[in-house]
Amino acid sequence: MFQEIPVNEENIFAFRVTGKLTHADYQAFLPTLEGLIEQQGRISLLIEFDGFRGWDLEAMRDDFEFGMAHRDAFERFAMVGENRWQRWMAAMAKPFVDGEVRYFERNDIQAAWDWLQEPGDATQSETLPDPGPFHHILMATDFSVGAERAARRAMELAGCYSARLTFLQVVEDLVFYDEAYDPIIPDRLELDEQMQDIAKQRMAKLLQEIAAGTKVRSEVQFGMPRHAILSYSVAQDVDLIVVGRHGHGGISRLPGSTASSLVNSASCEVLTVPLV
Ligand code: AMP
Repeated sequence: MFQEIPVNEENIFAFRVTGKLTHADYQAFLPTLEGLIEQQGRISLLIEFDGFRGWDLEAMRDDFEFGMAHRDAFERFAMVGENRWQRWMAAMAKPFVDGEVRYFERNDIQAAWDWLQEPGDATQSETLPDPGPFHHILMATDFSVGAERAARRAMELAGCYSARLTFLQVVEDLVFYDEAYDPIIPDRLELDEQMQDIAKQRMAKLLQEIAAGTKVRSEVQFGMPRHAILSYSVAQDVDLIVVGRHGHGGISRLPGSTASSLVNSASCEVLTVPLV
């Protein structure tokens, strides 16, 4: 049978399903559901299976026919179950529902409620503007082997969009340790200056090789690459960050990698260019 679970939300409804469902159960339940859809337009639904034992043949047809006639009636459909075939049922329901369908284990029921209450994707995509042209592209380079491949891509895109282009190299803070693993603090200022000089020379060489005659700005900053690239991009209204990616995706997915960290945390678009 179907048993309504009272919900204090405007367009979220919940029902518990127990035992074996019959045609009589559907005759009692479907008019209620139809009434809710008529009143509210699209609704979100939570179905909690509790000792559910399937359908008789007629009930199965009722379920299928209702689903076909109301496929656009559901915004979100959470099925909370207790075994593998209920998970499978949720997968089978997806093609018959225009909205989103998700399956949750019973001990995860809070996640199901949270998901139903989240603001809908439809609202979000309505408020997001279309992606426009790029205005400021940031090429973050570590001068590694193949780095100019990513740099060429950044230049090509800057040309296409008539965008500003900045090359950024971040000089990492180096810490040396003595035999007792105590950090050796060298003459910081002198070392920083030397590292900055080297970075500037390498940057000039890269730009001369690939960007002679084009208007490219270059920057050398100190810090942790992923943080420095991110904060520079926010401070300078960058709308595309271009970085290199080693391997075929594997390394860039490691939590520590600069590329994957930027992909996960940048608010602008990030292009990762394979370097080998
Ligand atoms: P990673 O994931 O750390 O191997 O680095 C991937 C990409 O992040 C590199 O190809 C560069 O585009 C960028 N990147 C890494 N380190 C730096 C750095 N110190 N300065 C600027 N960009 C960097």
